[in-house]
Amino acid sequence: MTTQELITLDNQYVVQSYARNPIAIEKGEGATLWDFEGKKYIDFASGIGVNSVGYNNKVWQEAIAAQAAKLGHISNIFYSEPYIKLAQTMCERTGMNRVFFANSGAESNEGVIKLARKYSFDKYGMGRSTVVTLINSFHGRTISTLAATGQDVFHNYFFPFTEGFKYAPANDFEGLMNVVDDSVCAIMMELVQGEGGVLPLEKEFVEKVAEYCEKNDVLLIIDEVQTGVGRTGSLFCFQQFGLKPDAVSFAKGIAGGLPLGGFMVGEKTKDVFTAATHATTFGGNPICCAAAQAVLDILDDETIAEVTAKGNYIKEKIEALNHPNIVCVRGMGMMLGVVLAGLSNKEIAAKLDEAGLLSLTAGKEAIRFLPPLTITYEEIDEGLAIFAKVMEEQK
Ligand SMILES: *Cc1c(COP(=O)(O)O)cnc(C)c1O
Repeated sequence: MTTQELITLDNQYVVQSYARNPIAIEKGEGATLWDFEGKKYIDFASGIGVNSVGYNNKVWQEAIAAQAAKLGHISNIFYSEPYIKLAQTMCERTGMNRVFFANSGAESNEGVIKLARKYSFDKYGMGRSTVVTLINSFHGRTISTLAATGQDVFHNYFFPFTEGFKYAPANDFEGLMNVVDDSVCAIMMELVQGEGGVLPLEKEFVEKVAEYCEKNDVLLIIDEVQTGVGRTGSLFCFQQFGLKPDAVSFAKGIAGGLPLGGFMVGEKTKDVFTAATHATTFGGNPICCAAAQAVLDILDDETIAEVTAKGNYIKEKIEALNHPNIVCVRGMGMMLGVVLAGLSNKEIAAKLDEAGLLSLTAGKEAIRFLPPLTITYEEIDEGLAIFAKVMEEQK
């Protein structure tokens, strides 16, 4: 099929809820993709941080094929091996206590919101149910996670939204203190706000929030749907902040391209969910969990340390362009935002697509780069050359 044929059929048969780029990808290898006309692209987007170990990764592929040949699905009323081994690996590598598996980021965040409310209900009864999130956050597209998302543009059309969310400014502890009251059961945040513009939280702010939570028995929930699984240069970003969160949600990169999400819980929260208080049919699917196990095998400590080195390399190369429209490059590891002034990030992203570099935007002014974590320096250089050329043409 051609790209044009696919676009025509999409327009006819598929709900038009995405502002898609006019590109149809057929296949990939490493961090390189090809469309249906054979045009090549360097991938600095990785399916929004999902293809953590690149395309056509043999270890990942073989793990999936082997598990598919044994068992593709079994209900959660039975035990199976992959989800149990994966939970063990995740706890051992993070110091968290237990894992619940879900299927997407939004669903995982729904789970941690329920966790926070039940924790508080069990201990204090009704009325302590507010979850504070940060302005510019993004937590998902279900009715409750849209409500949790601290951006007004998401609070539209779908009324009534779930009650019980309040928004506080990021990196402003006093501002946060003006929002919290004794109805609060949890504070939930991304350590680098992804969709909001690749905005890293300051260590001092995060430490103060953690201290407040600890003192007041308010749960500290970290949304690592985007920052997790090696993306920021540690298996989970909270590990670089020296935190002991009460819950950590994850999804995107965990299974390298198969749908898997979930949340890890800590000492205080490990017994909150009891039989039949939280469940999902597909959660802990054997094939997805086998894929995730392969991803975690590939992302050993050495490979994750490389993420920081590669991220710094990209950052330095872009800064060295000394481009008048580039304000700064911010982020952690290979979660980077190139902040533009006087140029539209959407227009630049479209020009990069056209020139053969796939990227993302974040907020109103950033181009966001989330390359596969296994990208080679050769591919990085190829991508950066395209970026430099497109930026040069804007001068
Ligand atoms: C993408 C994202 C989500 C939503 O994940 P879905 O899998 O699209 O539901 C939630 N939180 C953060 C931080 C994200 O980046």
